[in-house]
Amino acid sequence: MRSEAPKARKARGEAERRFPGIAVSPGIATAPVYDLTEAPGEAPRRAIAPEAAEAERARLAEAAAYSRKQVGKLKTRLSVLPEEAQEELAPLLDAYILMLGNSRLLRNARRRIGEENLSAETAVQDEAEAIAAVIMATKGDDKSGLQRRAYEVREIAKRLVRNLTATPFRSLKEVPQGAILITDELTPADAALLEPGRIAGVATEEGGADGHTAIMLRALGIPAVLGCHGLTEAARRGDPAVLDGGAGFIALHPGAETLAAAKAGLSAQAKEKTRLDKLRPLPAETTDGQRVELQANLEIPAELPLIHGAGAEGIGLLRTEFLFMNREDLPDEEAQVSAYRDVVESMAGRCVTIRVLDWGGEKDMEALAQGVPVATGPNPALGLRGIRLLLRRPELLEEQFAAILRVAALGEVRVLLPMVTVPEEVAQARDIFERVAKRLKRRGVELPEKLPPLGAMIETPGAALAADAIALEADFFAIGTNDLAMYTLAVDRAEADVAHLYDPLHPAVLRLMQFATEAALRLRMPVSVCGEMAGNPKLVPLLLGLGLRALSMNASAIPRVKQMVRALDIDDCARFARRVMEQGDPKRIAALVEEFAAQR
Ligand code: PEP
Ligand code: MG
Repeated sequence: MRSEAPKARKARGEAERRFPGIAVSPGIATAPVYDLTEAPGEAPRRAIAPEAAEAERARLAEAAAYSRKQVGKLKTRLSVLPEEAQEELAPLLDAYILMLGNSRLLRNARRRIGEENLSAETAVQDEAEAIAAVIMATKGDDKSGLQRRAYEVREIAKRLVRNLTATPFRSLKEVPQGAILITDELTPADAALLEPGRIAGVATEEGGADGHTAIMLRALGIPAVLGCHGLTEAARRGDPAVLDGGAGFIALHPGAETLAAAKAGLSAQAKEKTRLDKLRPLPAETTDGQRVELQANLEIPAELPLIHGAGAEGIGLLRTEFLFMNREDLPDEEAQVSAYRDVVESMAGRCVTIRVLDWGGEKDMEALAQGVPVATGPNPALGLRGIRLLLRRPELLEEQFAAILRVAALGEVRVLLPMVTVPEEVAQARDIFERVAKRLKRRGVELPEKLPPLGAMIETPGAALAADAIALEADFFAIGTNDLAMYTLAVDRAEADVAHLYDPLHPAVLRLMQFATEAALRLRMPVSVCGEMAGNPKLVPLLLGLGLRALSMNASAIPRVKQMVRALDIDDCARFARRVMEQGDPKRIAALVEEFAAQR
């Protein structure tokens, strides 16, 4: 949605416009943008049966309400734009909100649905064209003013049509090779469809640093900046741009200085890659000989080559959600066996930690909503998600356990339970696990002599503070710092508006991590970190100092983390962690972390 007002054009001009955002995936891209929020053209004309008119009007009302919400949100974010752009856009957005209310466009579209037996989108398109024709036929000198008004009506109609025809899965195939994809919001399921070789970069209006979309983009190694307010308003398809996923900005119509800096950045990156590649055969070992296990997180099978390339010692977190995304039905046991077998065989004996479905909250998989209760209450993140959902629908868990057990003899496998909050959940899951194993044995399925270990994610404050009790039920812990930070600080990890408050270095988060780690170490139980903190080299001294020796991260982070491990002495790390844990101010902690890392 863009204004064609001459003033707006002038404001946009060809001058560079920079949009700061959250730096979520490093890398630099210099390429034209492709705005996915632009309507893909006209929706096909569709007639309806007279009895369908009421349902069609309801669809239209819903799309109008949703569109109003979208435009309202754009309006609240204008304050981050330069004053001139604000002056230009605010009245335009107000006009859009009016048009999405009880306007002639909507009144007449509703009438056309009933009188002409048209689908809501066809009715909206026809009415927008009729209004635009009347505007253009108006007598007067201000031709460009008339053109602008006609354009605005068509733009708002396009937004309505886009929301009326939204499909559960987005086609990303239309994005041209080598473009920077920009859009208002990319869901984790959308991100899973991106091909790293095709997309030069991603910039969105929505999103947070450790949301699943950000995680997916990092995993795929696609440079990305999220939370760039005002971007889709200002950009048009084909605008040249520079995106810097490390510095956290996208610049439209980049000037000579920005282009030169991007070129220098790219060559520095290439040099660093050559240096890091040399570390691949070397062990992740501190200067005093302590081994640290560096594992990879896997979100989609396309990452396997990256995981091998990075020399991961195993998979510390296989997020099985990928199997359930972008489809209309549930994957059956055979489909799951085949997916897990590929990963386990490909890891050739190195440990694969398979987490059972963590569905719910932000990872809402629309297509599954048919058969399974989704956490749709007022607070989905606090609802029926993770292990809670699986215990409510044990047949889902049984099927997944069976699939995992059927590949367990092919390599070292561990099973991980998401969103545990009470020890009882682990005990109940174990009962089901053992029952499924017995059933498989009876069927003659070959199972390993000892059943795979069953671990618990520590990703809620409740689990962290009850870690000593959960440790009596679980065989290992994986600390999920992404959700742990979200739940501890009451800050949505995927929400751009509160991204500045999301801080895993908050002492409350660190204290919970310390408590859980110590509970595991006391019992000599394996404990790892598999949240995004594990992939940040600057945080490695602190994590090792807290006693952690296994870190699981996106594959591309492994070389830099290994470089850091090899520069550290464990006693120094322990002293450093003690100092950090005495602090109460997150900013002070961040400063200490920077200072310590800079000295390595
Ligand atoms: C976490 O919460 O830290 C975690 C690793 O799980 P996910 O990111 O998949 O929620
Ligand atoms: Mg989690």
